[in-house]
Amino acid sequence: MTTEHLVSFDDAVSRYEPVIGLETHVELGTVSKMFCGCPTTFGLPPNSAVCPVCLGLPGSLPVANRAAIEYTIRIGLALNCTIATWCRFARKNYFYPDMPKNFQISQYDEPLCTDGWIDVTLGGKTYRVGIERVHLEEDTGKSLHIGGATGRIHGADYSLVDYNRAGIPLVEVVTKPVPDTGALAPAVARAYVTELRDLLRALRVSDVRMEEGSLRCDVNTSLTPRGAVEWGTRTETKNVNSLRSVERAVRFEIERQAGVLDAGQKVVQETRHLHEDTGATTSGRSKEEAQDYRYFPEPDLVPVAPPAGWVEEIRAAMPELPAARAARLQEEWGVSSADLEKLRNAGSLDLAEATVGAGASPAEASKWWLGELARHANDRGVEPADLPITPEQVARVSALVQAGTLNDQLARQALEGVLAGEGEPDEVVAARGLAIVSDDAVLAEAVDAAIAARPDVAAKIREGKTAAAGALIGDVMRATKGRADAGRARELILQRLS
Ligand SMILES: [Zn+2]
Repeated sequence: MTTEHLVSFDDAVSRYEPVIGLETHVELGTVSKMFCGCPTTFGLPPNSAVCPVCLGLPGSLPVANRAAIEYTIRIGLALNCTIATWCRFARKNYFYPDMPKNFQISQYDEPLCTDGWIDVTLGGKTYRVGIERVHLEEDTGKSLHIGGATGRIHGADYSLVDYNRAGIPLVEVVTKPVPDTGALAPAVARAYVTELRDLLRALRVSDVRMEEGSLRCDVNTSLTPRGAVEWGTRTETKNVNSLRSVERAVRFEIERQAGVLDAGQKVVQETRHLHEDTGATTSGRSKEEAQDYRYFPEPDLVPVAPPAGWVEEIRAAMPELPAARAARLQEEWGVSSADLEKLRNAGSLDLAEATVGAGASPAEASKWWLGELARHANDRGVEPADLPITPEQVARVSALVQAGTLNDQLARQALEGVLAGEGEPDEVVAARGLAIVSDDAVLAEAVDAAIAARPDVAAKIREGKTAAAGALIGDVMRATKGRADAGRARELILQRLS
């Protein structure tokens, strides 16, 4: 593990300006692979979705998947890119056991989409992230290293290869360097990937499941001393596979690189690995020993030359994009732009919308997804969408609050019960006995006990200082374990002491 000297984040960004860049790989959700007819279904038995083309057997020839090209153009248009009128695939030559042909068909100097942008909003400020290129390639197979402690090849007894993933269409979205984000660099990196993920989902081109590897990021980070003109050397943290990890990778690299620079040393241009358990990155392969991929135009495929009319058809059929949708929902829901921004960046906007669709008010839906449920997701280190609770269940809890059956505190316990697998909200309320006590006989008993226990407070209220009732209401709430109807308790207290 790392023995490097870390500088505190605040100190690092006060003296160095971070520049970030992201390369995101997206597995397209086409029915078949990029250059053959094999299915792309996730989770099939190992090596069952293979054929001579994706196994690279001699004599087999690839044919480009039209749907994958269309999806890539859709992505390019949504990212405000220029769509090439003519481009080619290229052979990227390298040897790796999970790549049966010993080359990958990719795009090199002639990508399908170039020079676009996407806006992300953080703290009310908009950052425009430039898009360098969007290109199409095929995914590799997957190696599984058995017997080691870490799942890496080092220390493993043997390795297995599954070629089901080999040949699945993969789009790579490469940003331009993003400067001037300062202390917000980790958050901007995360917000960009969130925005891109939402965009890809809205375009229906990928299921964008980071945990299944259908969306994965390489995160570039460099530091420049404030006032310096030339940007520092960047590192590339590979295969970061959650939004939280994107943020952590940038943060850690800023702290680490500041330590290196403070010690008068040079940052090495290299790839690094993020360790999910500690949030630290460690050195991978140095770019100095990077291999030459000997790219050349793929001779087995014809050039891709999308006719202008087809591109315009694709443009005309584009769905509502997340930025437009967010603006529309903000208007319809009447929530603040800050709340809407928080929902989007927390990846909870879909969940809130579904909760509203299930009958909750927008204010209630936003409140639960931004408050209690965001906290639970954070505690568990998962995305809100991965919490074991549905928007319908949240809407039901919200309805119980509206009906006066639960107050906010009891609603939190009901949500907690659902998250703990105790069943539907109504079952949790019944089993935990959460419903508000508004039964006057039960309440009256608790009120009388509270008054008897605090004669001094009771005297104040009798003198007309009704604000003092708060202390007695607090006692009643404690006596009923938070289940008292606070409004009714107050009425009873004032009645008795009038
Ligand atoms: Zn195949």
